[in-house]
Amino acid sequence: MDEPNQEKIKMSFDINKLLRDNIRNLKPYSSAREEFSGEATAFLDANENPYNSPWNRYPDPRQVKLKTRVGEIKNIPIQKIFLGNGSDEPIDLLFRAFCEPGKDNIVSINPTYGMYRVAADTNDISVNLVPLNADFELDADAVLAAVTPHTKIIFLCSPNNPSGNALVHNAMLRIVEGFGGIVVVDEAYIDFCPEKSFLPVLGQYPNLVILQTFSKAWGMAGLRLGMAFANEQIIEVLSRIKYPYNLNILTQQKALELLADEQQKFDWVAIILKEREKMIGNLTKYPFVVKVYPTDSNFILIKTHDPRGIYQYLVDEKIIVRDRSSISLCEGCLRISIGSPEENTAFIEALDRLI
Ligand code: PMP
Repeated sequence: MDEPNQEKIKMSFDINKLLRDNIRNLKPYSSAREEFSGEATAFLDANENPYNSPWNRYPDPRQVKLKTRVGEIKNIPIQKIFLGNGSDEPIDLLFRAFCEPGKDNIVSINPTYGMYRVAADTNDISVNLVPLNADFELDADAVLAAVTPHTKIIFLCSPNNPSGNALVHNAMLRIVEGFGGIVVVDEAYIDFCPEKSFLPVLGQYPNLVILQTFSKAWGMAGLRLGMAFANEQIIEVLSRIKYPYNLNILTQQKALELLADEQQKFDWVAIILKEREKMIGNLTKYPFVVKVYPTDSNFILIKTHDPRGIYQYLVDEKIIVRDRSSISLCEGCLRISIGSPEENTAFIEALDRLI
């Protein structure tokens, strides 16, 4: 990381040049709870029902308490935090903010998380996919070469889904430094390899958006709570175009309660990583497993001679894994999440019976 390059990026990043015209000029809906959020004796401003407390009240649209706690945990000021209905929400909002339907495009890698493509299709944005190599490694030059004058966002995912590996940090950095548009690094699985996060250098890159989620290591997939971290200008835009009450009261309250105990997450991650070793050790011994790919995530990608046959056999044994064999570069591949010790043992015992 050399200083002059960073300076160049800082100077060349201009959010107003990237934003869609309609978004730049958008005046957001101002909710009652936005206009007045203090103490009062009578709340007659939001057409709520006075009965059925506390569910009768709209939630805090700015999610101040929850964001403050997330900021403490992540060591990031709340002005740089966006909270959404899963991290899928900021993915969609980034398209809506920056990509002109029918005109702009994004660049991403292949294979990767399927929602970037779905969000692109929903927003009528074309996708330039750059293949990873056979070991699912990133070619930064090829990604930068795929950029056109209409490319607004580059989506990277590290650790990557479905391959499981963290992409090489310096290759990602070259992309962040070499592209004048938005670079999204989706770190949904980062708690399983925290040392590889971009979060500590967020402040140096105004075009960087880091996505994280409470759905994986934190065990809150059902609450639907995702995070985007970025410079204040990008966060301000996402906040302006989100649904005013995108996080309901139940999610905000329950997440605050669960986030009080960060140790619980560390303990779960430790168990999952130990179980991952157990699973890898067993998977490598089966003759029908051609390859166990290296993983930095809470799942393992394996290549087999007969993915459909093994998938169906496991379904018959009431064990569900993900058949990824139709995906680019994943021919023959199954993706296996690390479950509880009991689930993992059931999986291993089922495969033992197949030898
Ligand atoms: N990013 C990646 C790479 C994922 O694999 C997933 C979920 N499978 C998500 C984002 C979405 O997470 P969330 O539950 O926060 O919407």
